[in-house]
Amino acid sequence: MNRRTLLKTSLAAGTFTQLPTRSAWAGNPAISPLVNSDSPNGFKRFSLGDLELTILSDGYMRQSPVHPFLAPLAQPNEVKASLEAAFRSTDSIDIAMNIGVVRSKDRLILLDTGMGVFAGPTQGNLARSLAKAGFKTTDVTDVILSHAHTDHIGGLIDKQNKLVYPNAAVHITKVEYEFWQQATLADFKKSPAYQMQDFVTQTIANTQTVFKLLAPRLNFIDLSKELHGIFTFELAPGHTPGMILTTIRSGSEELMYIADLIHADVLLFDHPEWGFFGDTDLQQAVASRKRVLQQLSESKTKAFAFHLPWPALGHVRQKGTGFEWVPEVYATP
Ligand SMILES: [Zn+2]
Repeated sequence: MNRRTLLKTSLAAGTFTQLPTRSAWAGNPAISPLVNSDSPNGFKRFSLGDLELTILSDGYMRQSPVHPFLAPLAQPNEVKASLEAAFRSTDSIDIAMNIGVVRSKDRLILLDTGMGVFAGPTQGNLARSLAKAGFKTTDVTDVILSHAHTDHIGGLIDKQNKLVYPNAAVHITKVEYEFWQQATLADFKKSPAYQMQDFVTQTIANTQTVFKLLAPRLNFIDLSKELHGIFTFELAPGHTPGMILTTIRSGSEELMYIADLIHADVLLFDHPEWGFFGDTDLQQAVASRKRVLQQLSESKTKAFAFHLPWPALGHVRQKGTGFEWVPEVYATP
């Protein structure tokens, strides 16, 4: 896999997947991605008060080896033992990409947009997933961006640099927008990704390209106000400086979209302090992860996450000195 392909296919799961390691789809037919599989195109639909929520899949990213992509602050043997204890492969981990769609009486809102123009073979399924779930791109009224990493904003533009959702307002925090507009390599000194200088530079350039095309559509989120009578927001800085958590409310029901607070249902719930390679400020991200996991375990609020295993709905429970993910279970797909 050449550097260009590597940059294109790599994550941005917060994203800085191209550690100097073997990529799982780099020519090994035994683990070639299921490009034509129908499976990423399903959807999970449920109601939340008066709202209709649908979870779609943009695909997944396979990361091999697991360490130090996940848990860079842990020792390799700790990661191996933790994966074995969870009956998981110690060779690779698949990181899901789930996208929420919220429908109210008069609005259709996407929560992030997937890899889109930056997609590798196992990614970029959102357009097909949307169609299968009965949505038209022209009907999308709003896109809420949790943050501006490639796997969250790539779906906003197509290969001709046209807007995929021509009628949608795109909401993002001002902190996030301004960070990326002025970002240089020096802003990533507190990130494990700092060593991947070409990758960081490319990520900054990609984000600025998307922002430029989006400019007429951008709206800065007011963190003190509700949006459309449905959403409230709070900052969870660290993964990126302006990443937000989005609470969706209707009647007495609520769900918190935690975006990239945490990238796997193993390792980081037990040990939120082990960190994630793609965190812009590793220690600040650890602090946010611990704080919000604690908050979710106490409030018992249901959560939805971008990168946890499909359909990424569940609760957080305290376990020992850490936490665990308790996924929702369903009797049918
Ligand atoms: Zn991500």
